[in-house]
Amino acid sequence: MRNGRQPAIFVSHGSPTLPLERGAAVDFLRGLGSALGRPQAILAVSAHWDTTRPAVSAVEQPETIYDFYGFPPELYRLRYPAPGAPKLAERVAGLLEEKGLRADIDPARGLDHGAWTPLYHMYPKADIPVTQFAIQSRLGPAHHVRLGETLKPLRDEGVLIFASGGATHNLRELSYQRGNPVPQPWVAEFNEWLADAVLAGRRDDLIAYREKAPHAVRNHPTDEHLIPLFVALGAGSADSAPQRLHTSISSGVISMDAYRFD
Ligand code: ZN
Repeated sequence: MRNGRQPAIFVSHGSPTLPLERGAAVDFLRGLGSALGRPQAILAVSAHWDTTRPAVSAVEQPETIYDFYGFPPELYRLRYPAPGAPKLAERVAGLLEEKGLRADIDPARGLDHGAWTPLYHMYPKADIPVTQFAIQSRLGPAHHVRLGETLKPLRDEGVLIFASGGATHNLRELSYQRGNPVPQPWVAEFNEWLADAVLAGRRDDLIAYREKAPHAVRNHPTDEHLIPLFVALGAGSADSAPQRLHTSISSGVISMDAYRFD
């Protein structure tokens, strides 16, 4: 698989404790790394790096960022020491420029938990160069589909476009539901609408999901955790059917669904 064409993937990263967890979603992520083979590099699009203009990190050695509070101390001892990908950052900026877009090159940005916690399971050796590409949640879904389309050529260069967010993401409801493993109907209904729309390629419905999908605003009080999905969607080819790689709901309200776009 080395040098082979890579897909764009969307995963739901769930809680920051993902590296310490076990279960169906973790088993899925562990299998996903070997299923994808070894990309040349990974461009991580995390819900947790949200900027006003497109940005890409060119750091040589990304630090592991602990952008969460009040979790078990062992989580803060984990590191994800993968090398950075400064050449990929330049390439990303070049691709955007060709489309009349501009990307800020960030010399220092490391890997936030949206990027490193799923990669911790997928590529535990942390030996594949990885860098982050920011989202601009205030610019909405269509902007991110366009960014994904712009990044699509990277897939032919062996780069895995790795979008990480959440198919559902309501943390207030999560605290109400803590300890209740039963998927809430309003979560399941939205999650299935999303899967149907992705698999059927209903791009316009997806872009307008806040108006079209059942319980959209309850599942996403703010947009940022679904936004990475739109980058992956844009990076997929229109003639290739998307796949739902995984589905499960954690703590009743957090979908761990994942999709593949070829
Ligand atoms: Zn998150």
